[in-house]
Amino acid sequence: MPAFSLEPEQTAWCAELRDLAAERLRPLAEKGEPGRVNRLLLTALGELGLLERLFTAGALDLCLMRESLAHGCTEAETALALQGLGAHPLHRSGTPAQRDRWLPDVVTGRAVAAFALSEPDAGSDAAALALDAAPEPHGPGWRLTGEKLWISNAPEADFCTVFARTGEAPGARGITAFLVPADRPGLTGRPLDMLSPHPIGALTFDGVPVTPEDVLGPPGAGFRVAMDTLNLFRPSVGAFAVGMAQAALDATLDHTARRNAFGGPLKNLQAVSHQAAEMATRTEAARLLVHAAACAYDAGAPDVPRRSAMAKLFATETAQYVVDTAVQLHGARALQRGHLLEHLYREVRAPRIYEGASEVQRSIIAKELYTTAGTEETTR
Ligand SMILES: Cc1cc2nc3c(=O)[nH]c(=O)nc-3n(C[C@H](O)[C@H](O)[C@H](O)COP(=O)(O)OP(=O)(O)OC[C@H]3O[C@@H](n4cnc5c(N)ncnc54)[C@H](O)[C@@H]3O)c2cc1C
Repeated sequence: MPAFSLEPEQTAWCAELRDLAAERLRPLAEKGEPGRVNRLLLTALGELGLLERLFTAGALDLCLMRESLAHGCTEAETALALQGLGAHPLHRSGTPAQRDRWLPDVVTGRAVAAFALSEPDAGSDAAALALDAAPEPHGPGWRLTGEKLWISNAPEADFCTVFARTGEAPGARGITAFLVPADRPGLTGRPLDMLSPHPIGALTFDGVPVTPEDVLGPPGAGFRVAMDTLNLFRPSVGAFAVGMAQAALDATLDHTARRNAFGGPLKNLQAVSHQAAEMATRTEAARLLVHAAACAYDAGAPDVPRRSAMAKLFATETAQYVVDTAVQLHGARALQRGHLLEHLYREVRAPRIYEGASEVQRSIIAKELYTTAGTEETTR
C-alpha cells in the first residue's frame, strides 16, 4: 500500500528541525556576513549531527532536513546543502586515504567543502568545461589551468571537488574529478556579491599541481561523479524551495488574519483567502513530488531522472509563485529590508537556475517521456 504521508517519527523530526532552525541556528546566521561562509553556523550543524546525517541518510532524509531548516533559517539550510554537495564526491568516490583525511572534519564542520563544476563558458552545458589538466612532463600528475565561476563556498572552502579535462575526448568524456585542497600553489579566488546572502565565488587555477592521489573516482569518469552528486541533490533543491514556500504561506496566513482593511481582516476577502488556498495547494503538490522523487532515489527506481527533474522544476517554480504572492498580500511591509519576505524574495530566485535551470529540467522530462513512449511502442 503506497503511503502519501510521512511516518509520525519523521513528522516529529521535521518539527524539531524547524524549531532548531528558528531558535538556535537563526541567531548564528544573523551573526554571519552575507555572502561569506559562516563557520559558526556550520560548526553548529556539525554539533547537531546534521552534517554526518548527510552521508548516512538517504535522499528523503536529505529532503526533510533541507525543507525543515529552510523554513526557519535559509542560511543554515544552504550551509548544510553546500557541505553535502562539495563532499558527496569524496564520500562516494574517494579513496580510504582521502576519506580519512577529510570526512571527519567535514562532518564536524571544521573543513568547508565546495563543488566546482561551472565555468564562464560552461554552465547548463557543463560537459563543455575547459579547465585544462595538462600532464606533468616528468612524473605522474597534472597541472590545472583555467577558471571556475559561480562556485558556492568559494573562495573560502578548505577543499574543492574540481572537474577538469584530462583527455582529448570532447564533451563528457575525458573529464576527471580531483580533490584540491585550498592551499595548493597557484589556486586563488575572489568572492562574488549575489542577490541572496549565498556564499559564492570564482576560482583561478594557474598551473595548480595535482597527483594521482588527488583523483576522485576513475580518471576520465569525472562527469559521472558530478552527475551522481547532482542526481542525489536535485530533488532536495525542490525541498529547499518547499521550505521557503511554507514559510511564506505561514507568514501570509498569520498576516491576513490580523491585518484589518475595509472593516475586517484581509482573510475575509475571498480574493485574498482564495490566493492563500492556491498557495497551500501548490506547496503541498510540490512537497509530494519532492518526497516521491526522493523515495524513488532511495528505492533505486528506474524513473529517478524524470521524477527528480519534475520535483525540482515544480517546487522551485511554485516557491517563486508563493513567495511573490505572499509579498503581494503583505503589501509594502514585505519589501522593507529585514522582513522575512524581503529575504525569501531574494533567496527564492537562484534555485530556478542552479543544478539545472527550469528549461533544462523540462528537456530531461521530455527526453525521458519520449524514450519511454518509444520503448512501449517497440515492445507492443
Ligand atoms: C546561487 C548559485 C550557486 C551556484 N553554485 C554552484 C556551485 O556550487 N558549483 C557549480 O559548479 N556551479 C554553481 N552555480 C552555477 C550554476 O550551476 C549555473 O548558473 C547553471 O548551471 C546555469 O549556468 P549559467 O548560469 O552559465 O547559464 P547558461 O547555461 O548560460 O543558461 C542561461 C539560460 O539559458 C537557458 N538555457 C540554457 N540551456 C538551455 C537548454 N538546454 N534548453 C533551454 N534553455 C536553456 C536557461 O533559461 C538558462 O537559465 C551556482 C549558481 C548560482 C546562481
